[in-house]
Amino acid sequence: MKNFNYLPNQYTKDQNTKLSHSYLVEQFSDYSNILKKITKVIKNADYTLGNEVNKFEKTISKRMKCKNTIAVGNGTDALFLVLKAFGIGKGDEVITTPFTFIATVGSIVTSGAKPVFVDVKEDYNIDEKKIEKAITKKTKAIMPVHWAGKPCELKTIQKIAKKYNLKIIQDSCHAIDSRYYGKSIVSFGDACTFSLHPLKNLNVWGDGGFILTNKDTLAKKLYLLRNHGLKNRDNCEIFGFNSRLDTIQAVVANYKLKLKLDKITKARIENAHFLDKLLSKNPFVLTLKRNKNIKEVFHLYQVNVKTKRDQLIKFLKSKNIDAKIHYPIPIHLQKAAKFLKYKRGDFPVAEKIAKTTVSFPVHEFIKRKDLKYMCSMINKFYQVG
Ligand SMILES: *Cc1c(COP(=O)(O)O)cnc(C)c1O
Repeated sequence: MKNFNYLPNQYTKDQNTKLSHSYLVEQFSDYSNILKKITKVIKNADYTLGNEVNKFEKTISKRMKCKNTIAVGNGTDALFLVLKAFGIGKGDEVITTPFTFIATVGSIVTSGAKPVFVDVKEDYNIDEKKIEKAITKKTKAIMPVHWAGKPCELKTIQKIAKKYNLKIIQDSCHAIDSRYYGKSIVSFGDACTFSLHPLKNLNVWGDGGFILTNKDTLAKKLYLLRNHGLKNRDNCEIFGFNSRLDTIQAVVANYKLKLKLDKITKARIENAHFLDKLLSKNPFVLTLKRNKNIKEVFHLYQVNVKTKRDQLIKFLKSKNIDAKIHYPIPIHLQKAAKFLKYKRGDFPVAEKIAKTTVSFPVHEFIKRKDLKYMCSMINKFYQVG
């Protein structure tokens, strides 16, 4: 039989690379502490929602200074459920960026609405100056993506949303703990959605996600929608979905939230700034501009290279350094997006970035000396220094 399951070794195949993007083994080296807590869940048979999920929602709300947290099955469902809660679907349009992970756009399409793309800027985030031109009578929401953990220009986006009466649904999957002009991103717009996927900054042992919102009416609807629309065991208010954060994953999330997230965020920021400095001397590598009013949390560390991108990656791999491309194909050029009838050239900045971007490991377990080694190999490739 033909094998249609094409990703069985997605996360194990790079594990032997010395300087890797994936660091899951180190991250969960203290798993025995987590297992002890999971044993308690099993002893109490508290398997769906329950205490641990409740605790996670309360802790996140407090940390983010947000009124409501709704824990759900994954980051994609988080986006989809917010769209559904707003009644967005067939005949509606949602504005977003073509330079994102496929799930952003997938959530819009599966809601029944049509994604409308707006090009990005040199910082990989949606170009807020181009949003207004994309608005039509059918537009219901803007879905900005805080790419790599850098918040979009939320003040401008908020102004536009107000003027045209649009919802702002922030795909914040890269951006936990980021800040925009000193403020939490949650203080803008209607909802922020997050993923707890193993490769995200705050992660669990599988899938998970959550939604933050200060709007009580929206929160109420989301609590219903994620759990079949059930108000209690016997009464269904609206037909909904089954997308709950798994209780066992909530144990992992609570553990990491309490003991690790601050350190993760801090280390990623320090590593990124160190890389900025080291790479600034290489004229073939263009680091991104930083804005001191914006706290980026570096889910990814990306640069644009002037030339020989694919050869550079191959060279680094041969040196045991796991350089990657996030992502080589913008969404409007994906096969799945054909029906939207976009063509090459429609979003020149996104298309240019897709050809020149490289991501380097930046996670909390990388040591200074490894970053130095990595940069020396990049310089060697370009014969610099
Ligand atoms: C990871 C991610 C998602 C989807 O999250 P899942 O938990 O994998 O469903 C959505 N948007 C962005 C930008 C992401 O990086």
